[in-house]
Amino acid sequence: MSDYVAATTQGDRLPQDVVLITFDDGFEDFLTTALPALEERGLRSTLYVATGLLRGKAGMRRTTCSDRMLAWSQLAELASRGVEIGAHSHTHPQLDTISRRRALTEIDGSRRLLEDELQLRISSFAYPHGYFSPLVRSLVREAGYESACAVRNALSVVGEDRFALSRLLVRAETSPGEVSVWAAGIGPQAPARERIRTRGWRAARRARAVVAPRSVYEFR
Ligand SMILES: [Zn+2]
Repeated sequence: MSDYVAATTQGDRLPQDVVLITFDDGFEDFLTTALPALEERGLRSTLYVATGLLRGKAGMRRTTCSDRMLAWSQLAELASRGVEIGAHSHTHPQLDTISRRRALTEIDGSRRLLEDELQLRISSFAYPHGYFSPLVRSLVREAGYESACAVRNALSVVGEDRFALSRLLVRAETSPGEVSVWAAGIGPQAPARERIRTRGWRAARRARAVVAPRSVYEFR
């Protein structure tokens, strides 16, 4: 991701139909299953981890998912095998529904924890659940990140806002055929502007977040 963003901001010539492979959350099967398959094919990727969900750090609360998550001690190995590590917040909240102060702690805190652990600059962020607002976007930018991924289920285009990059979600039921079509640059395009419907949905989620602030994590 960071190589791509650097190339686009510097105006470098890119090959046609560049494909970026990203993973969110930090499940351990990234290391055991996905990475060997990527390495076999000579492919690199970016992994966005939610720092509060990783195993093996004193003073951090555990979640029901923790036995399926990567351990902190495994991150350095991933980085040494060519995986870019990005931040995906600390506790995986819907950042556009929480206070500015809490959002900043999530955005900046996860970056600092990863930088301390890896002694590397962490320059890319992925919004949990893909949700962000203009305020969240500006907090990510001010925290020093160079890029941020949304979801949007759309192809990204060169020139897209690098703090709101579109991605297509590859699910367990997504077929190799669908991925091949997307890789050829054929697929849904991101809307030019945020739709009113998206804003209405955010208002509904904010209201729900007030009612149920400790809802169960739904990863994305
Ligand atoms: Zn996630």
